[in-house]
Amino acid sequence: MKKITKCLLFGWALSSYSQQPTFTKQDTLRGSITPERSWWDLNFYNLSVEVKPDEKFISGSNIIRYTVLEEQQLLQVDLQPPLIIEKITQEGEDLNWESNGNAHFVTLKKPQRKGDVNEIKVYYSGQPKEAVRAPWDGGFSWKKDSNGKYFVATSCQGLGASVWWPNKDHMYDEVDSMAISITTPKDLMDVSNGRLLKVEEKKDSNTYHWYVANPINNYGVNINIGDYVHFGETYNGEKGKLSMDYYVLRDNEEKAKEQFKQAPMMMEAFEHWFGPYPFYEDGFKLVEVPYLGMEHQSSVTYGNQFKNGYLGRDLSKTGWGLKFDFILIHESGHEWFANNITYKDMADMWIHESFTAYSENLYVDYHFGKKAASEYVVGTRANINNDKPIIGPYNVNKQGSGDMYYKGANMLHTLRQLLEDDEKWRTILRGLNKEFYHKTVTTKEIEDYISKSSGIDLTQFFDQYLRTVKIPILEYEVKNKQLRFRYTNIVNGFDMPLRLSINGSEDWYYPNAGWKSKTYEEDIQTVEVDENFYVDSKSILF
Ligand SMILES: [Zn+2]
Repeated sequence: MKKITKCLLFGWALSSYSQQPTFTKQDTLRGSITPERSWWDLNFYNLSVEVKPDEKFISGSNIIRYTVLEEQQLLQVDLQPPLIIEKITQEGEDLNWESNGNAHFVTLKKPQRKGDVNEIKVYYSGQPKEAVRAPWDGGFSWKKDSNGKYFVATSCQGLGASVWWPNKDHMYDEVDSMAISITTPKDLMDVSNGRLLKVEEKKDSNTYHWYVANPINNYGVNINIGDYVHFGETYNGEKGKLSMDYYVLRDNEEKAKEQFKQAPMMMEAFEHWFGPYPFYEDGFKLVEVPYLGMEHQSSVTYGNQFKNGYLGRDLSKTGWGLKFDFILIHESGHEWFANNITYKDMADMWIHESFTAYSENLYVDYHFGKKAASEYVVGTRANINNDKPIIGPYNVNKQGSGDMYYKGANMLHTLRQLLEDDEKWRTILRGLNKEFYHKTVTTKEIEDYISKSSGIDLTQFFDQYLRTVKIPILEYEVKNKQLRFRYTNIVNGFDMPLRLSINGSEDWYYPNAGWKSKTYEEDIQTVEVDENFYVDSKSILF
C-alpha cells in the first residue's frame, strides 16, 4: 500500500519527508529546552494585538509572567521575522537583547532570585508571515467573505506561535492562564480562546478581551476576525453545565444551525469515552475560519463547508465517514488529546493525532455501533503509507510520519482487541485524561500508563508500530489437518496474540518469531485473520 492520497489532513507531512532532513542551529534553538528557557517556568501571558487587515499589519505586546527556577540572567524569547521586537522592558526599565534568527536572548538587569515571580513585556510589530496553505503552512490568512468583509485567521501548529506573537515557543511549558485582547476594525469581531470578558468600543475599532482560565499551549492560541453571527446552547455534561457557542459568517447561519447539531452529539460521545470536557471554565466554541480547521483550545476552528465527511469525502470509503462532519469531530477530539494531554516534543505528535484519528471511530461507535466503527477505522488503513516511523526526531521541532493518523488509529484499535474488555479500554482512555489532566507529556509516560493499566507489557507492541515502518506479517502453512504459523517483519520479542478463524471457528493464537503448529480434527479449508488486528498475513506452501 504505497498509495499517496491527495486529500489528507497530513499532506504536509508526506511532502516534508521525501528527503532526509538536515537540522540547523535554528531547529535546535526552536526545538530544544535551551539553558535560556529551562531556568524559568511560565505562569501567564497577557497578549494584546491590534490587527489592521487593510495593511496586513499587526502591532502589540505580550507580558510574560514567570517563576524563577534557577538564578540566571539570560532569557530566550521567540519571534519570527519579518515581525520585529521594538522594545523589551522589565519593571519599566528597557532591556537589551541579541537576536539569532527567531530566538532573542534578553539580558535581565534585575537579579533573578529563585522562587520570584517576574514579568517582561515584549513590544512588537510588522507584517506577519502570510499563510501559504493554512493550517499546514500557516501564519495569517487574510481573506474576505462573500460580502466583501475581511475574514482573517491565524494558524501555526508546527510553524510555531512565534510566527505571530512573542512567547516561549516550546511545547514543554504552558502558562496556567492567559489574557488575549484583540483590536479589530469597527465592523468586525474577534473570537479567540476562552471567554469574552468585555468589548471596548473605540472610534474606529473595537477591542475584544478574552480570558483563558486553563493552561493552554502556544499553537492553541488564535485570532479569528470576521463578520460573525453568534448562536449557542447549554450542554448538560459530566461536570455540569457547559456553554457551547458557535460563531459563523453571517451568510452561513442557517447551514451552521443544521450542521452544528453534531456538536452536542460529539460532546456526548467524547465525554463517554474520554471523560469530562477538559475546559468547562472556558466553555466550548466552534468558530468558522477561511481554512479547513484546527484544534484551537476552547475555540475549535472550522472550515469544512458545513458538509459531512472531509470536505464531503469519506476517508474510510466505507460510507461511515459520511455520517459525520470530519472537521467538527476530529478537531474537537483534540480537546482531550492535544489540548488536555499535550506533547512536550513534536516528535511525539502521535499522542495528539493517533488518539484523535482514533476518536473518529469512537464517535461512530457511540452513535452507530461497534461494527460500524470497526469498518470505519479498518477502512482508513488505505491511507497508511508506512514511509517513516510515526515518532520523529527529538529536540528539533519535527514531527514523524503522517501515518501518526491512521496507522496510529489502527494501532489503538488493535490494542482494544488485545484487551478484549471494552469497559477496561474506556477506563484507560478516561484514565489518561485524568492522570495527565492539563499536562505536557512524553511518549514514554503514555506508553507506560497504558501498559500498567492494561496489565500487558506493550513495550514491543509500541516499538513495532511507533518506531518502525514494519507491519507484522503472520506467515502460515496449511497441510491437511495441520497449521503452522509465525510472525516475520517484527521487532525482537514481538509476540502479539491475535484471533484467527480456522474453518470458520474463531480462537486466540499466540504467534512469535518461531514456528508454532496446531493440528485439527478435520482438514483445514480456510484460515482467516480477524481484520481488526493491524497485521498482514501470507500463506506459504509446505
Ligand atoms: Zn488532528
